[in-house]
Amino acid sequence: MTTHAAAQTADLVVANHILVRQGVLDAFGHVSVRTAPGADTFWLSRNLAPGSVTGADLLEHDLDGRTDDPRRPYLERFIHAEIYRRRPDVMAVVHSHSPSVVPFSVVAAAMRPVLHMAGFLGERATPVFEISDVAGDASDLLITSSSLGAALAKTLGDASVALMRGHGAVAVGSSLQEAVYRAVYTEVNAHAQAAALALGQPRYLSAGEAATASATIGGQAVRAWDVWREQVRPGITAGDPVTGPGEE
Ligand code: MN
Repeated sequence: MTTHAAAQTADLVVANHILVRQGVLDAFGHVSVRTAPGADTFWLSRNLAPGSVTGADLLEHDLDGRTDDPRRPYLERFIHAEIYRRRPDVMAVVHSHSPSVVPFSVVAAAMRPVLHMAGFLGERATPVFEISDVAGDASDLLITSSSLGAALAKTLGDASVALMRGHGAVAVGSSLQEAVYRAVYTEVNAHAQAAALALGQPRYLSAGEAATASATIGGQAVRAWDVWREQVRPGITAGDPVTGPGEE
């Protein structure tokens, strides 16, 4: 494994643990990272609770969701595969059942940015994937095939986040740090927006505010990453030698 790949997989283990600590993932959900810019492969854990993931559990998947490892993969690996296929700009994907986000997937009220930290949601209503449109009205709501993944990726379009009706959400980023930041602040925004809606009609960020705040604050996602990393890896600072697969 190259130094780049070792650093990347070590960060992916940290991302799993951060997202659990931040309440975005629990026993379910997953996070992946593309192996290199433009690559048609990505790292994703084997079928395991995110809090238990170590470097030895990461499997290299292709865009058809295949691995050459005999261990059981996640059922919903096609979420990641098809988003990477459709979005060359995306380097990382988080799929969660983020608890404050789910209500926005089942009501007419659209999720919109109510705070500057969530400017990445943009001015348009956050898209909602309606699985019954492609899987009928008796599915398990899971993305268990390439065709379902492709339909979800189409709903995401060029957005940062898409909701999945009655299920959860996906958040994407141009780096692992950015995708993690967006997944966490999608949950924060959903919680704040629901509180605002209970008080009255919210004034959402304007299109210009969302774009400007996203450009300014998105560039600082690494600051949040460093804080969250310290919480799950106390005493290890960025730049320290990383632990490779199988060593932790
Ligand atoms: Mn799921």
